[in-house]
Amino acid sequence: MNFIPLSIPNFEGNEKNYVMDAVEQGWVSTAGSYVNELEKKMAEFLHVNNVAACQSGTSALHLSLRESGVEPGDVVIVPTLTFIAAVNPVKYQFAKPVFMDCDDTLCMDPVKLRQFCEKECVFSDGILTYKGSAVRAIIVVHVFGNMADMESIMDIATEYNLSVIEDATEALGTYYTDGRFAGKFAGTIGHFGAYSFNGNKIITTGGGGALTASDSDTVDHLRYLSTQAKDDAQFFIHDEVGYNYRMTNLQAALGVAQMEELPEFIRRKQHHYDLYLKAFEGFELAELMPFRDGVFSNMWFYSLKIDTSRIKASMREIVKRLHEKAIQTRTVWGLIHEQKPYRDDDTYQLEKAPYYSSRILNIPCSTQITEEEINYVANEIKQLLRELANG
Ligand SMILES: *Cc1c(COP(=O)(O)O)cnc(C)c1O
Repeated sequence: MNFIPLSIPNFEGNEKNYVMDAVEQGWVSTAGSYVNELEKKMAEFLHVNNVAACQSGTSALHLSLRESGVEPGDVVIVPTLTFIAAVNPVKYQFAKPVFMDCDDTLCMDPVKLRQFCEKECVFSDGILTYKGSAVRAIIVVHVFGNMADMESIMDIATEYNLSVIEDATEALGTYYTDGRFAGKFAGTIGHFGAYSFNGNKIITTGGGGALTASDSDTVDHLRYLSTQAKDDAQFFIHDEVGYNYRMTNLQAALGVAQMEELPEFIRRKQHHYDLYLKAFEGFELAELMPFRDGVFSNMWFYSLKIDTSRIKASMREIVKRLHEKAIQTRTVWGLIHEQKPYRDDDTYQLEKAPYYSSRILNIPCSTQITEEEINYVANEIKQLLRELANG
């Protein structure tokens, strides 16, 4: 069996044509028609009227936080079970994260979020304060392409006057099919939505991202901030402190080609998930985690929950042993509140995050994976876990 990677990009479409076209046109930097076209394609796909393309998901989140009015010393409620890039921009703004638990979808627990606002904070004059600092925003991550409970989260945010920044970097194409937000895509429900096109995301531009906001003028303002806040490009007039966060035309050329393929990529992710589901059906030592009901998920990453109480080996050991069988897997992220720069920050009743973080294995999910490879992966994992349970 050839080596089976966890998640690699897929360039089966017009990628080479469009990138070569951008090079031949000479438009390789932050001006160029592909950037505008990618923004237009994203807006159509997401059913919103304005999207700004930028350098990365991280920069999209940073711009959103800044636009939310998050200032030094303010508090931002964040998840601990996610990729650290979702939280680092809080520190860029010299604000303070408070780490919230997840629920069984691995996304933020709305029950604990409400409890935190009610019991740990004070709400007066339209401002929620925690230990004397204003709570300005919540960063909600749609983990692995799942959808957070946005109905509850939006209710809480409205009640306490908080900005909701959706980190939809892993969930491009995920939308509600039922409920109050039926038809609404991840990233288009809160005040801001951030997307990422990094190498292992469902579509990639090498590095890149995009953002949208509930207010179209806000997106225009963020685009302006992302291009050094140029009020007059010819005479170099700048009325605000901007950033060099705009996407380049070369990246966007790749992105336009990838957007053409996105529906097919999602279809394959879903099909492969079904194949894994069948392969792990009835297996006593691990279970493929479901995605939320009432949601059409892009099924970006698959989470295998291992019954670690019965396995006589560490997750590290499991990853290593599978690697020897040419299968690349990884454990879910280390919790952010345990990382060195965040150890002094506050947490709130973390229970499920540590539980899941110690037993989830992400398994190969590239769009090019074959049925034969999926069955090989599932069989090898089952065999290894049975061996480790007995040995
Ligand atoms: C990938 C990712 C990001 C960062 O996106 P970049 O484009 O790599 O900057 C942020 N949050 C989460 C949850 C991610 O998975």
